[in-house]
Amino acid sequence: MTRVVILGAGTAGTTLAHLLVKRPELDGASVTVVDRSDRHDYQPGYLFVPFGMVPAGRVSKDRRAFLPKGIDYVRGEVTAIDRTARQVRLASGRTLDFDQLVITTGTLPRPDVVPGMADGALWRRTVFDFYTLDGATALRPALAAMTSGRLVVHITEMPIKCPVAPIEFALLAQDYLRKRGRHPHVDVIFVTPLDGAFTRPVASQRLGKLLAERGIELVTDFQLESIDNEHAELVSYDGRRVPFDLAVTIPPNRGADYLLESGLADELGFVKVDKHTLQSTEDPDIWAAGDATNVPTSKAGSVAHFMMDALVPNLVAHLAGEPLPERFDGHANCFIESGRGEALLLDFNYDVEPLPGMFPIYHVPALRLLGASTLNHLAKMAFEAVYWNLLIRGRPLPFAAHMSMEGKRVPEGVRLPAAYTK
Ligand SMILES: Cc1cc2nc3c(=O)[nH]c(=O)nc-3n(C[C@H](O)[C@H](O)[C@H](O)COP(=O)(O)OP(=O)(O)OC[C@H]3O[C@@H](n4cnc5c(N)ncnc54)[C@H](O)[C@@H]3O)c2cc1C
Repeated sequence: MTRVVILGAGTAGTTLAHLLVKRPELDGASVTVVDRSDRHDYQPGYLFVPFGMVPAGRVSKDRRAFLPKGIDYVRGEVTAIDRTARQVRLASGRTLDFDQLVITTGTLPRPDVVPGMADGALWRRTVFDFYTLDGATALRPALAAMTSGRLVVHITEMPIKCPVAPIEFALLAQDYLRKRGRHPHVDVIFVTPLDGAFTRPVASQRLGKLLAERGIELVTDFQLESIDNEHAELVSYDGRRVPFDLAVTIPPNRGADYLLESGLADELGFVKVDKHTLQSTEDPDIWAAGDATNVPTSKAGSVAHFMMDALVPNLVAHLAGEPLPERFDGHANCFIESGRGEALLLDFNYDVEPLPGMFPIYHVPALRLLGASTLNHLAKMAFEAVYWNLLIRGRPLPFAAHMSMEGKRVPEGVRLPAAYTK
């Protein structure tokens, strides 16, 4: 009997479990899913908690209700992978044997690795994160109490999951303050290690313009060295200082600790995989998906979902001794809440940066790309129900896993690979 073990039952692990139990080729195989917690969080909901737009209680659910029948669910902390013995070790001492292993333990915010962040006197007093439910919940009263001063929204380093979420936070915060008449007294400052608002040129230029229109100051190329708790300042390696009254920071995001010692991951703990097949570059019986991989696209729930169209057939083919049939193209799409009841949409892949135009649903140009619209905002809010009911249950969504050029407009000066210009 083939034993498939999935490490992590978040977005990628849960979706994968549903898809594997539906595959007739795996009849008779055992599928075991391990997670250290019984709670499954809808992480995009964290963004809305500090603004009171979504109650914290709605974000987190019992994950057992979302796992398919026919799998074994094991609650436990993974502490090691023994590749020689083909075993996974748990903190409890229990071991799990595997023939095929899929790593979907995601990425974790690590405020403990920055001097003066988690260990500083200001942590969760005037320095907050919103990449955890605890952090987002603690931030709500601090934001509500802010009537004047400097609100600094900050990214420590890349990569982070959902790289647009900090921009969304800055835009929503500005709108939150505007609605309460506090915006003349609170400066919102966006501080990033990047050379612009976002990683890719067209989106970076458009998002930079949007921040400027909303009066949000952009501080670029800021590589955080530490947080000076005495003076309430972010300090960069080149000696620049950014003072704050309230700092909302995105700590470094890292892979799970056990991966660092596994020989399977890079120095940040992200599993080294072939970016198209999602097979480990170190071991053909090991795979990874979602935020846990080192692939050069956004770490996002949409990406975890799109990866499945390559991962599942490839794993099944590998078990049958056949060539791997599918290639993941790096497809990501991300809504960006821009406040005022609107949102933007980005759609891109490894080869094509986010472009303007319209995103089609069933070939109907439905959602505006790289431009704000009410419909995008409604779609983002509706995504919560899509997530719980369709996405993580491995049910089809109304758009393809591979990125399509349908509806996209290529601005002058943007060069695309030949495959996308036909
Ligand atoms: C604020 C915020 C906003 C976001 N907004 C969006 C958005 O709008 N759109 C979008 O597409 N994506 C968004 N994302 C990103 C999205 O939530 C993640 O990319 C997605 O959840 C990744 O899925 P995953 O399965 O790889 O990781 P996760 O869903 O994080 O799952 C990893 C699982 O592994 C478990 N685990 C970790 N380590 C261990 C261990 N050692 N032992 C056992 N279990 C372990 C964890 O408990 C967890 O259940 C957002 C994220 C945040 C934080």
